[in-house]
Amino acid sequence: MYDENNIFAKILRKEIPCKPIYEDDKVFFFNDINPQAKIHILAIPKMSVTDYNDFISKADNEMIKYFFDKINEIAKKHGLLDSGFRLVTNNGRDANQEVPHFHIHILGGENLKGIK
Ligand code: AMP
Repeated sequence: MYDENNIFAKILRKEIPCKPIYEDDKVFFFNDINPQAKIHILAIPKMSVTDYNDFISKADNEMIKYFFDKINEIAKKHGLLDSGFRLVTNNGRDANQEVPHFHIHILGGENLKGIK
């Protein structure tokens, strides 16, 4: 069950501030508040979905393609296509997912050895 008061839902409603990177009617990208690498961007769909499983079950193919294309576009804009980058999504309890709104971490800008 999606919690409308999770922190990313509040960010989407502009109830709490963040450092935005990109926004349109379908997706939102912003900087992680506690970056684990020089570049650490969070990508979220504008859907009430808790995790990867929920997203992939509810999003249509067009949305899924749009979301991942946009991740690639933002990675490219940040110069990550040449240097490399990592995409991470934590799904559920054993992954220690903290925020129950599906998100993908985009990590890069430095060698990620030793960074999860
Ligand atoms: P996860 O463990 O995959 O759910 O990751 C949640 C991420 O959200 C962590 O990397 C946090 O640093 C990040 N985070 C939590 N609160 C905020 C916030 N207000 N603005 C930006 N990032 C946040």
